Amino acid sequence: MQIFRQVAAMRQACRELQQKGKTVGLVPTMGALHEGHLSLVRAARARCDVVAVSIFVNPLQFGPKEDFARYPRTFEQDCRMLVSEGVELLFAPTAEQMYPAGATTVVEVEGLSEKLDGKLRPGHFRGVTTVVAKLLEIVRPAFACFGQKDAAQLAVLRKMVRDLNMDVELVACPTIREADGLALSSRNVYLSAEERRQALCLSRALLRVQRLAEAGEHNPDHLMDAIRQTIATEAAARIDYVEIVDPDTLDAVSDLKSGALVAVACTFGKTRLIDNLLLPPMKACFTPAEAQPPATRPGRVPDAVWHQDARRLTRWTQ
Ligand code: AMP
Repeated sequence: MQIFRQVAAMRQACRELQQKGKTVGLVPTMGALHEGHLSLVRAARARCDVVAVSIFVNPLQFGPKEDFARYPRTFEQDCRMLVSEGVELLFAPTAEQMYPAGATTVVEVEGLSEKLDGKLRPGHFRGVTTVVAKLLEIVRPAFACFGQKDAAQLAVLRKMVRDLNMDVELVACPTIREADGLALSSRNVYLSAEERRQALCLSRALLRVQRLAEAGEHNPDHLMDAIRQTIATEAAARIDYVEIVDPDTLDAVSDLKSGALVAVACTFGKTRLIDNLLLPPMKACFTPAEAQPPATRPGRVPDAVWHQDARRLTRWTQ
């Protein structure tokens, strides 16, 4: 694996490969890699001749009171993981390389950037779109892979690519979870054992929504109440938002006819976690029996089938 710290060298390596007819796939990350990141690497590998990963803890997307300084940095271990995935190019620039002294240009997707996480983290998505636009310009990949775990980020990036006529295809990859349902995140290392246990209420709440929706409950207010009730069972959980929105516009939806993004953000102690579920378009249900999926008829789904449900959560987020 070749490691580049300089923009010019990374750009040149990408151009040389592209001149030889190779397609390059890009996986932008902030490092502290886990299986979620590696699933994006594999998605890029499946589509491209060469995989480029970037590791850059982007100061522009952190607010002044956020965790930029203490964000986990595990560069050596990240390199070992990427080498074992056969990644060819790693771009790990310094902040000075990405933001030369005096740089004042930003990329902002107006409107979308103020929704969901953008509402609570002013300037966060402007930081994301600015750095991703720069990475796309440096690498010029055919494909860039992102996780559905950050669903609002994906919506903002899709709109940026469309609005700026960028020549890249964004690939949305399903959320990878621990066996017990917790979505993998570099920030999970901040959680104490007790906070980690309580954080399971996020996936539990989403699973409950999935079951309710499958059983015919299509009223977003009722589904959001179900999420709040599930999260309220954990004393340490502080809800930042619970929303059911259109996955592209991030505007609230009044029914689930065309599908919806169910998004939650919650703080456990000092750690803020997000999770979401993408519901497919819902057919109208005519009888209670038709409304129920076979597994739930006639009683409740036992907890033992979580794995089956977890796979479905994953499949629905593709
Ligand atoms: P980050 O390093 O947290 O900025 O994430 C880099 C990329 O990995 C983003 O596109 C994330 O959406 C994606 N990602 C993070 N966690 C997961 C996960 N559990 N499953 C799938 N993708 C993920």
